Amino acid sequence: MAECVTIPNHILSAIASHRQVCSEPMAAFFYDLPALAAQGRAMKAALPAGVELYYAIKANSEAAIIDTVAPVVDGLELSSGGEITRACACSTPRPWVLSGPGKLDTDMREAMTRGVEAFHVESLGEVARLQAIAASLDHLQPVLLRINPALPADLSSRLRMAGTATPFGIDEAHLADAVRAVDDAPNLTLVGFHVHAMSHQTCERRHQRLLASYLECWPRWRALAHQPERVTQLNVGGGIGVNYLQPSAQFDWPGLCEALGERLAAMHEPPRVRFEIGRFLSAFCGYYVIEVLDTKVSHGEGFLVCRGGTHQFRLPAAQGHDHPVIHLPCDPERAIEGERRSWTVVGQLCTPKDVLSRRQEMTGVAVGDLLVLPLAGAYGYNISHADFLCHPRPEQVFVRDSHESRELKTRGQRHAETAS
Ligand SMILES: *Cc1c(COP(=O)(O)O)cnc(C)c1O
Repeated sequence: MAECVTIPNHILSAIASHRQVCSEPMAAFFYDLPALAAQGRAMKAALPAGVELYYAIKANSEAAIIDTVAPVVDGLELSSGGEITRACACSTPRPWVLSGPGKLDTDMREAMTRGVEAFHVESLGEVARLQAIAASLDHLQPVLLRINPALPADLSSRLRMAGTATPFGIDEAHLADAVRAVDDAPNLTLVGFHVHAMSHQTCERRHQRLLASYLECWPRWRALAHQPERVTQLNVGGGIGVNYLQPSAQFDWPGLCEALGERLAAMHEPPRVRFEIGRFLSAFCGYYVIEVLDTKVSHGEGFLVCRGGTHQFRLPAAQGHDHPVIHLPCDPERAIEGERRSWTVVGQLCTPKDVLSRRQEMTGVAVGDLLVLPLAGAYGYNISHADFLCHPRPEQVFVRDSHESRELKTRGQRHAETAS
């Protein structure tokens, strides 16, 4: 399986040069920024006319990632005051929206004063708080209502955020009340609806049907508004999955876009559709690279104990999958001659849960070899419990161009960026 992923040469050389400056066995993230920009451009190029692509920065909000993605997408989707700070520090200012449950009054006020394009409102309580804040700033604020629609049961995915009981959005049964509340709020103006129903959608057909079900509801949702002609936007969220187990078989984004284009073209008054994608934009650019510290066999199972672990890369543990692993031997010629066997790849934590991948076939693995875990650019380091056991945070290396490794390194400690 891992054989399907090839590591680009500029990443291999960045790994090699980083290793030379490591005084300890290494554990570090490498991000291929040109590949990230290319992914954004390809996704954008496939969109039907008039459909927009925003980046949901929670997938990876490192400054270099935002700076790379921002110029190639239409805007950013944020969900906290901290994310507002990061987005506003971006070298290419882009429009941005604020969504998410549990918004603080201070975040909503901050967003308004810093020029938020729209809020995605999650509840009736939020409508009231937002109205009060907008009134205090004497500001007219565009909002979208986030809907938790009833969904056909067969459209579900692993991580559902709609069609079931969740803290997200407003049930369709209460939507009329919410629309009325916004219509009655003098400082708010309803411009559209938002649905982000699931993550990890790996089936293009199912996602097509999901979007089709939103578009079928659209005229009905819109008709609830006092002035339907002002309600023009349908934000369909993100949720496009990454196939971690079969990296060569990825979601057919162009296929989804083509089907969406045909559907929109057939509509009488189609909405302006916007995607806000996190994982599918940033996952592919990241590599987590760890060094083998020890090899052992326990009750018949081989273990590679590596620098780092799930406290730096929680993704496989969070998803319950065996992440693909690519073996980078120190001495490739000797490795080919070595024993082929199955290894379970673990980290340094004193817990049996610190497993990155189970039973991977590898040949001639030795202490000091490197293992590369690809597809680590989204929900990797940033969802990890990096302080557990007081290990130092991993270095993050942002590889800027494919020729010379002009890199920017970030020690785990935030704000400590220095050009190398
Ligand atoms: C997390 C999130 C996204 C992005 O989801 P991905 O699965 O990373 O594409 C988009 N919109 C909202 C509201 C989210 O919470």
